[in-house]
Amino acid sequence: MRRVKNLFVLYTGGTIGMLQTAEGLAPAGGFEARMREQLQGQGETRLNWTFAELQPLLDSANMTQANWLAMRDAIVHAVELGGHDGVLVLHGTDTLAYSAAALSFLLLGLKVPVLLTGSMQPMGAPGSDAPSNLLGSLTALERGVEPGVWLFFNGELMHGARVTKLRSDAFDAFAVLPRERQGERAESLPAELSYRQPRQPVNLVVLPLFPGLRAEHLRALLGTGVQALLLECFGSGTGPSDNEDLLAALREAHARGVVLAAISQCPQGHVAFDVYAAGSRLRDAGLVSGGGMTREAALGKLFSLIGSGLPPSEVERLFALDLCGERVDAR
Ligand code: ASP
Repeated sequence: MRRVKNLFVLYTGGTIGMLQTAEGLAPAGGFEARMREQLQGQGETRLNWTFAELQPLLDSANMTQANWLAMRDAIVHAVELGGHDGVLVLHGTDTLAYSAAALSFLLLGLKVPVLLTGSMQPMGAPGSDAPSNLLGSLTALERGVEPGVWLFFNGELMHGARVTKLRSDAFDAFAVLPRERQGERAESLPAELSYRQPRQPVNLVVLPLFPGLRAEHLRALLGTGVQALLLECFGSGTGPSDNEDLLAALREAHARGVVLAAISQCPQGHVAFDVYAAGSRLRDAGLVSGGGMTREAALGKLFSLIGSGLPPSEVERLFALDLCGERVDAR
């Protein structure tokens, strides 16, 4: 456990700092003053904190891979050059779980805790959850949090690579659902995956399988130059395996070096290809199992692995291992 004394607060936008406009809530600057005022009213924190705004401030619905990389850069800079021993990221809730997952894999090996939080209602709105999420995050960091990426929300500290947004209108919007936690941990990580290594943007696609998906849909998607396709399979990793043309489209893409990864579309499911022939045929077409990983974790992991320049075979090997607790209960 690491008690944080010199915190870096990175404000990226989100409801927590939004103000009302003619079009509805929109990101607004000047949040540092509002945050200091709020905390003074609630009793000073002993934490020393420095505040930075990541430009442009965003409704997190607009987050892109470039914004994940900008967050990573600001965090690494603050820790390595600014001497900060903890980080708090203020973020919109819509894609908070995606950013938490992406940062979990972009910051592998960083020795300080990185906590993300936000709120369902803006700071200053009557009965808002913003003050308690903010103060709760600062209190957790002051008491000590393990290195790694975490989400603090509604009084709970949750693993950054396991969390999902479940609700759009309640304060307990996030949860870590019980999913399979089994697998092999990576014994060591290649240097390419260190938080010190910058990453490149990646052409990634997530596709839920659905009854009626045709081979031509898949071919059109795969024809856009995707480097990895994350398929959300049915149940324990099954799909339309009677469709020879669809399987051929997958095999051809795999032969071209496209990474094909599978997770379960069941909120509490996991992939076990061998249970059904309809699953093992997908595996034979080149799919690698994401076990019980969430969509957010699988996407962030593929982004980090491919963005680091590793070859497809190494991406597949590492995707199947646990890198930071996304697949195996270790902390
Ligand atoms: N649309 C907002 C955002 O994600 C929602 C929120 O912050 O709660 O930025």
